[in-house]
Amino acid sequence: MEIEIIDDCRKKIEEADIVLLGFGREFNVHKEMILEESELYKSLDLENSPLEELEKQWIEYTLIYESLKKNDSNAMQSRLELYDKVADYLAIHNKNNYFVVTTCNDDIITKSKFDGQRMVAPCGTMKYMKCHSGCFKTVYETEEVYANLYSIIRKYVDKNDLTEMWSELKDAMPQCPMCKRVMSVNMFKTNNYSEEGYRSAWDSYMSWLQKTLNRKLVMLELGEGFDTPTVIRWPFEKVAAVNNKATLIRVNKNFWQISEDIEAKAIPVKMSGIEFLENMEV
Ligand SMILES: [Zn+2]
Repeated sequence: MEIEIIDDCRKKIEEADIVLLGFGREFNVHKEMILEESELYKSLDLENSPLEELEKQWIEYTLIYESLKKNDSNAMQSRLELYDKVADYLAIHNKNNYFVVTTCNDDIITKSKFDGQRMVAPCGTMKYMKCHSGCFKTVYETEEVYANLYSIIRKYVDKNDLTEMWSELKDAMPQCPMCKRVMSVNMFKTNNYSEEGYRSAWDSYMSWLQKTLNRKLVMLELGEGFDTPTVIRWPFEKVAAVNNKATLIRVNKNFWQISEDIEAKAIPVKMSGIEFLENMEV
């Protein structure tokens, strides 16, 4: 039964001219899962360190960023495999005209085979930071901060003596040039989240979307709930309503329901997005 539904969805996608993918919050790999795997994280025992909350977060993201770079986390790896499976599937079927929208902010999808120019992540990224107090909306790249913090951590851990590490780490924290407070990663639900971080990708998405009108478009919405319905759920419904050649495939274990006005153009699949992809033959 379930496999039949997945096959129907496959057929729809393969007949489409254009594909819009929506990876929902279900796909987000929580930072705790990645940190749990890190020996370095355990050896630091941040809980009992003299660092402030924001400073601890910087250490956590430094280790997560390092894991992302080295691709050494199983939790990340299994998610990446799913993304690549979909990217390969689209490539095999020559579906090169696609766009990916995600409400995840774990950055894993940026390591996948999806084209970085065809992707938008409006809920943030650890690759940018902003003033935690909201002095300004500008976002800054975090790469150097992570590199610097990581080299300090490595130095002391290798010496097997952490006593002087904490003060050196505190000195290396990124500071807002105006309020001098420690900055924070630019993620949705953090203080003063700055929309500037994804503005240009969103603009590309909007202009891409305009060109899908009256074309055979399939939207595959996977595992998105109601935390931020303005990013994937509602816009996808709206597109389905105005484009007569569009199909919305909504895959969700809890919120698979489709509103009446687009019922004829939609396929609800009561299944988790991850399960759906795992069972999808490519
Ligand atoms: Zn500031």
